[in-house]
Amino acid sequence: MDSYTKLRNLLGEVFDLAATDALLDWDQQTMMPPGGAEGRARARALINRTAHDRFVSAEMEDLLEAARKEVAGRDPDSDEARIVRRVSIDFEKERRVPSEWVAHFFYAATLSQQAWEEAKPGSDFDKFKPHLEKMVGLRREYADFFAPYDHVYDPLVDDFEPGMKTRQISELFAQLRQRQVRLVRSILERGKAVNAAPLHRSYPVRKQEAFSLEVARALGYDLRCGRIDVAAHPFTNGLNPGDVRITTRYDPRYIGSALFSTIHESGHAMYDQGVPASIANIPTRLGQSLSPSFVSSMGVHESQSRLWENFVGRGRPFWVHYYPTLKKLFPSPLEGVGLETFYRAINKVKPSLIRTESDEATYNLHVMLRFDLETSLMTRSLEVSDLPEAWNAKMQEYLGLTPPDHAQGVLQDIHWSIGYIGYFPSYTLGNVMAGQLWERITEDVPDLSHQIERGEFGSLLSWLRRNVHAHGAKFDSGELILRSTGKPLTAEPYLRYLETKFGEIYKL
Ligand code: ZN
Repeated sequence: MDSYTKLRNLLGEVFDLAATDALLDWDQQTMMPPGGAEGRARARALINRTAHDRFVSAEMEDLLEAARKEVAGRDPDSDEARIVRRVSIDFEKERRVPSEWVAHFFYAATLSQQAWEEAKPGSDFDKFKPHLEKMVGLRREYADFFAPYDHVYDPLVDDFEPGMKTRQISELFAQLRQRQVRLVRSILERGKAVNAAPLHRSYPVRKQEAFSLEVARALGYDLRCGRIDVAAHPFTNGLNPGDVRITTRYDPRYIGSALFSTIHESGHAMYDQGVPASIANIPTRLGQSLSPSFVSSMGVHESQSRLWENFVGRGRPFWVHYYPTLKKLFPSPLEGVGLETFYRAINKVKPSLIRTESDEATYNLHVMLRFDLETSLMTRSLEVSDLPEAWNAKMQEYLGLTPPDHAQGVLQDIHWSIGYIGYFPSYTLGNVMAGQLWERITEDVPDLSHQIERGEFGSLLSWLRRNVHAHGAKFDSGELILRSTGKPLTAEPYLRYLETKFGEIYKL
């Protein structure tokens, strides 16, 4: 057996351990009773430590070394050469982290997530505070494993967006902030031009389920290799290429919640499902753990989910096709509401408290707020006990709002509870990448909007399959975007998209 094959076999073992942990995570977020947290924390600590030890073993090091020599003469873009390259980068990073730390981190994160779930409904920040302090402390310790660095946040961002630096994110955010704040300001000056009240009526959950399922299937989410469940914070969990699960949440008084969450998560799931078998079953180091999917970055992941959710699901052509079905399903809340009114309602721009329910024009401001707070926590210019106050001050600064309670403020997202400090920029990077991909797709598939009006999503999905999914983690996000669009990552297409779309809706 050649060294490359032996390497793939060993990576397959690490992959299976990571997949086992993913199932424990899925279960924790959907089914597990609160009393299970302590036992689950021990199990996840053990599985993650075992996966880590196997990944950084002397055997892996030797096989990587031998495989590097074996693939040296091959096409540098071949699967073999690229896999060896990506795994080598992940290996060098993973081995900086002590095995004990990995076990300790997953133990603490599991309990912290449980504490967050219990603290959130009652807005009880004090109950969650010791856990958050623990997670922030662990992430500070983690960054130090990678010293020296230009910025203490760099090693954290790199967990989600391999190769990306804090400085690049700051520059990109500055460019976005200026144009988005100007856009939001001119929209708000137009006053109440859009009425979203019809979205907040009585929408029976059963029917919402049926509609969401129909849409997810039509877009291309393969439910033979997937399923949809309910969770407090919607997520996608790819256990292996044949089992990619999504979750959503239903609000009987708001049609947008489940619908757009389901489309968003279906976008993630289609990416995981689209990685070809020839490069699947390899773990990537994403989200500070070994993850059982061979994908480029969380930014690329979010580009897929945000593209389907917004560019497709909040677009007019999509509703030309689906609005008659929706109206038939919900005749009374949508009585007298025409397509155009509905389209404008789902795109209403209004500064809001909750990131996941915010409109496209203000969404990135929610991310920038979190980026500011995370970098301050990491540089120690902010401590956890002052976080709620800092959150509320930033909400005023960015969105002109003050949360009435912590559930709608600092406690709203799951990320910090599981130590995902460094993830949030991926959402905005995803938006920006989606803008750039979309511009290129509409050049390559000129009648795309007519296809979508007919409920046909096949050419869009196959474009994404060919240009994004097929490459798995062979390229980092910068290279992937360059290869798929012909241009380096730039915010221009996304800003143009926002200004055109909202310019038309609000007659700016
Ligand atoms: Zn997402």
